[in-house]
Amino acid sequence: MSERICDCKYCHCTVPASAVELDGKVYCCEACASAHPDRAPCQSSECDCHQHGWGGIKT
Ligand SMILES: [Zn+2]
Ligand SMILES: [Zn+2]
Ligand SMILES: [Zn+2]
Repeated sequence: MSERICDCKYCHCTVPASAVELDGKVYCCEACASAHPDRAPCQSSECDCHQHGWGGIKT
């Protein structure tokens, strides 16, 4: 099995086998998959990807 990295722009978390997949991209958590609405935090407390406020997936 190959490990994949979350496709959230600022996230570098490893994506688990039960990953959320959207348009061929994988995300480590639903917060990343939905581009952190209301800056919902990443599943990893050490990851600050949600603090960038990029909202890039939707644009
Ligand atoms: Zn993250
Ligand atoms: Zn992520
Ligand atoms: Zn993220």
